[in-house]
Amino acid sequence: MRQDLMEILVCPVCKGELTLTIAAVEADEVLTGDLFCAACTEHYPIDDGIPNLLPPDMRAAMAASEAGSGH
Ligand SMILES: [Zn+2]
Repeated sequence: MRQDLMEILVCPVCKGELTLTIAAVEADEVLTGDLFCAACTEHYPIDDGIPNLLPPDMRAAMAASEAGSGH
């Protein structure tokens, strides 16, 4: 994601401001990093340049459904 995306990104839970921590950057693209909401004390990871802004409970639900996706 581009760093200037931070201007429009908000916490999916409280719509609050997110703090960006960059682990890997190329030009102005953040490849790996972390978005942190101080209000929720919740972290949202950035992997392969894509910020994962799913609310934590939805992320848990997705992980659970993936784990139980056998017929
Ligand atoms: Zn929040």
